[in-house]
Amino acid sequence: MVRVNSYYQTLRAGYLFPEIQRRIKAFAAQHPEADLIRLGIGDVTEPLPAACTDAMATAVEAMGTRTGFHGYGPEQGYHWLRQAIAQHDYQQRGCAIEADEIFISDGSKCDTSNILDILGDDNRIAVTDPVYPVYVDSNVMAGHTGPANDQGCYGGLQYLPLTADNDFRAPLPATPADLIYLCFPNNPTGAVATRAELQRWVDYARSHDALILFDAAYEAFIQDSELPHSIFEVEEARDCAIEFRSFSKKAGFTGTRCAFTVIPKTLSGHTRNGDAVSLWQLWSRRQSTKFNGVSYVVQRGAEAVYSAAGQAQVARLVTFYMDNAAIIRQQLQRLGLAVYGGQHAPYVWVKTPASMNSWQFFDQLLHQAHVVGTPGAGFGAAGEGYLRLSAFNSRGQVEAAMTRLARCKLQ
Ligand code: PLP
Repeated sequence: MVRVNSYYQTLRAGYLFPEIQRRIKAFAAQHPEADLIRLGIGDVTEPLPAACTDAMATAVEAMGTRTGFHGYGPEQGYHWLRQAIAQHDYQQRGCAIEADEIFISDGSKCDTSNILDILGDDNRIAVTDPVYPVYVDSNVMAGHTGPANDQGCYGGLQYLPLTADNDFRAPLPATPADLIYLCFPNNPTGAVATRAELQRWVDYARSHDALILFDAAYEAFIQDSELPHSIFEVEEARDCAIEFRSFSKKAGFTGTRCAFTVIPKTLSGHTRNGDAVSLWQLWSRRQSTKFNGVSYVVQRGAEAVYSAAGQAQVARLVTFYMDNAAIIRQQLQRLGLAVYGGQHAPYVWVKTPASMNSWQFFDQLLHQAHVVGTPGAGFGAAGEGYLRLSAFNSRGQVEAAMTRLARCKLQ
């Protein structure tokens, strides 16, 4: 009889988004006339930049010719894309990252999860709370945790709370951690890190021989030119960090799929015997065996993000979503709610009115305003008492949602 990976049984059965769907379905069944506005999901709504679609159209044409056809590409990505990324995203910002330290992939979701393939089973893991659920669930699937308690916290993981009280800056781990997941700008809180904050984590990692898994999927939304976009803006991070980036949110590639992971050649881990091993080499090996690269057409589309036209179009997209975030922030503040995030990230993190928990506030918005948010408690125990609203929507929908909220009794 075939055995399954029984660690999947440890997962709390798809708690957050299925429960949201269940409540929406029940509401829609009672109110079929209701026109729901979804500010819950982190998918983009605006079309791809023209520079990207033009480049992809040209690439498709080329694929239909004998001279322009491309079969399997390099598993790590085409050199011209890796080079464009290294130059624009890193070297121009003073980071010493080379093209061959960049691994092109079809998504940061897969990369943040697959990275566990090259890491041991006995690392002590720290995650923030609230957290992007993929980091936690991947560790559960890999058998790195115990079962979850009533609040959804898994045994064996160290949770670092992010709350208004600590200004959404996680405390350093109270007991030593080997592997630390950080996400800036943060999903779901919308918080952003200063250089000093990144330095604090790099110092911790170096003094504890730990590895930071740094998710910068939202870096393009940073509005303040003084703030760092990459953990590699802290020089010593080359010895203790892996960075994940994506074209999904900044260039609308959620359905097109292209991302990348940066693994410095200077980064090493240890075998059980204590021998140092290059993580760059392990990941190269892993990708060569388990991945056949991102399509040529899509990589040409991603490359166009770095053209002059692409840069201007991406900047317009980001401004569009950040204007949405400002509209959401202003309206919620006008209604007397405490509002966080939304200034360097496309997510607004709202404190629920005192009398309500996350799900009650979710229900109130659904029933009174027909607006769908995401209950903070779904991202972790410390997310209780908050709700996430996403700025990824059309202007019309965002404005309509805010007009509806103004008519609600939110307290
Ligand atoms: N990382 C974070 C923090 C995210 O919020 C998301 C998507 O919502 C991703 C990664 C996934 O990115 P991708 O579309 O590249 O898989």
